Amino acid sequence: MDVLDYDVLILGSGIAGLTAAIHAYRSSGGKVRIAIVSKLHAMRSHSVAAEGGVSGVLYPQLDKDSEELHAYDTVKGSDYLADQDAVDVLVKGAPKEIKFFDHIGVPWNRREQGRIMQRPFGGMTVPRTAFAADKTGFFMMRALYDEVLGCKDIDIFHEHFATSLILQKDGTSGFVAMDLANREIKAFRSKSTIIATGGASRVFGFTTNSYSNTGDGTAMAYRAGIPVKDMEFVQFHPTALVPSGILITEAARGEGGYLRNSDGRRFMEDYAKSKMELAPRDIVSRAIITEINNGKGLVDDESGMKYVYLDLRHLEPGKIDERLPMIKEMTIKMLNIDPSKEQIPIRPAAHFTMGGIHTDIHGRVMKSPTQPHDGLWAAGECACVSVHGANRLGSNSLSQCSVWGRMTGTAAAKKSMKLGHDRGRFTIEAEREAAALESLLDRKGDVNPYELKEEMHEVMDTHLYVYRNMKGMAYAREKLRSIYNRYGRVYVSDKGNTYNTNLRDVLELRNLIDLASIITECAIRRKESRGAHVVLEHPKRDDKRYLKHTIAQRSLRGMKVSYIPVKLGQFEPQERKY
Ligand SMILES: Cc1cc2nc3c(=O)[nH]c(=O)nc-3n(C[C@H](O)[C@H](O)[C@H](O)COP(=O)(O)OP(=O)(O)OC[C@H]3O[C@@H](n4cnc5c(N)ncnc54)[C@H](O)[C@@H]3O)c2cc1C
Repeated sequence: MDVLDYDVLILGSGIAGLTAAIHAYRSSGGKVRIAIVSKLHAMRSHSVAAEGGVSGVLYPQLDKDSEELHAYDTVKGSDYLADQDAVDVLVKGAPKEIKFFDHIGVPWNRREQGRIMQRPFGGMTVPRTAFAADKTGFFMMRALYDEVLGCKDIDIFHEHFATSLILQKDGTSGFVAMDLANREIKAFRSKSTIIATGGASRVFGFTTNSYSNTGDGTAMAYRAGIPVKDMEFVQFHPTALVPSGILITEAARGEGGYLRNSDGRRFMEDYAKSKMELAPRDIVSRAIITEINNGKGLVDDESGMKYVYLDLRHLEPGKIDERLPMIKEMTIKMLNIDPSKEQIPIRPAAHFTMGGIHTDIHGRVMKSPTQPHDGLWAAGECACVSVHGANRLGSNSLSQCSVWGRMTGTAAAKKSMKLGHDRGRFTIEAEREAAALESLLDRKGDVNPYELKEEMHEVMDTHLYVYRNMKGMAYAREKLRSIYNRYGRVYVSDKGNTYNTNLRDVLELRNLIDLASIITECAIRRKESRGAHVVLEHPKRDDKRYLKHTIAQRSLRGMKVSYIPVKLGQFEPQERKY
């Protein structure tokens, strides 16, 4: 059994993981050995799908903008659940990251005199989202990947699927992973490990996320006893294409797009008069569902899905081709709709995981609600630091991935130390994992994993969507318990060793079920409405009882839920109006 030793181990190769790798390499002068392990080819990581852009204050005087204003927008957008010290780090670090990407080759759209162009985004007071057409994530990933390929001592393990974390008392950490090409099991060991495994929106059926966003790192961390934070807060993006769920970027509204109901009316004036279509996502998603519930939606004949329209027909000629070319390509390919001539059918879809692995402001993974783990970090969407609180503002994620990618990569390289010779536990864990996979393949189960996943999706899409209610969530909890129990009887039909995607799907399903259960449990216990979490029986925000982060941790007696205070700062919680 192979045990592979590295100075720095990075699990995940999205924008957070690749940024971490580059800064681990650069800050150590190329002296540390780094491994990036990814269940996909690195360039297929979900980050390539990011469309609209990355936030940061670039020209404060010219744009009448400031880091303080960015912080204010973010905290207000979060419904005051973000930690304000972390938001401060985000807004101060973001401009440097946008310039870093400029230096490594991202072809930002430009304004006069070569300045980087910035577009309006939801909940932001001024245009501060830097972008490369509507393919920002792809260009950022391409630049990062090129940069990583230029670093001599970074090994990339593409298509290696990590199944469990190993955490030792001496600070050694790592994980076991299966090479998807041949099902070979390997253990990776280090004194500095960064988890950067992305979000978990595939817990839902109707989602903008790629199939790979199954929250593996978050679920593995939870199973290893690490606390996860604020998992009840799931962002539903207002404009997902019907019926596929493919994202129509918020930039479409940033560039001037309207939302219209079945009467052709711009209904956002009833919900957020001053911001209209550029209100934060939680508010726009609720507005859409309210319109639909009030009979002002339309129905897709094939899927039966209800929707409203995104209207880009009035945009100046050429704007769609210059700033939103991918949206045009997609609507034509998927629905034969040319957005300059016809309206686009959209409705809210699960999009972003605001919660995640509980980290401190430095990105250090916590082993208890208040104690950091030695030598273990998390960055990107899988981490809850928390800068997004109860509702993320669009374009703040790519800045979060970059800021904490740099920070954790640098810290991990600094911390990395020589490993001892004793690989005992790693070898044992890897052998145990190999045996577990064999027994999974041999299992004579009677439950079809894909049917079980559909059942989970049905439960989550129905009861944990934009509007939640106590009865529905209690039903979801019961259903998920039954799904969890039946997972034990799931069978793997494909017994092969080469790219056994059936086995991978079954392993991902375990992660999804764990996370669906955590989301539901935490949602049931938060008896208020804040940001993306809205409970019909408790329609108001309740700062007295719930201005706090939810922590879920695995214990011998099951899931333990506790709370820690939100770190407030200069922005006092106020009623959120737009
Ligand atoms: C369609 C879409 C558009 C978006 N557009 C924007 C935008 O314009 N601006 C913005 O700020 N945000 C945007 N977001 C959000 C943003 O793209 C993500 O939050 C961000 O890209 C996440 O990056 P990451 O590095 O954390 O993870 P990812 O890019 O998701 O990468 C996760 C990595 O972990 C690896 N991994 C996962 N599990 C395992 C495992 N078990 N074993 C091994 N490897 C594993 C994967 O292979 C992958 O390499 C968008 C989201 C979507 C869905």
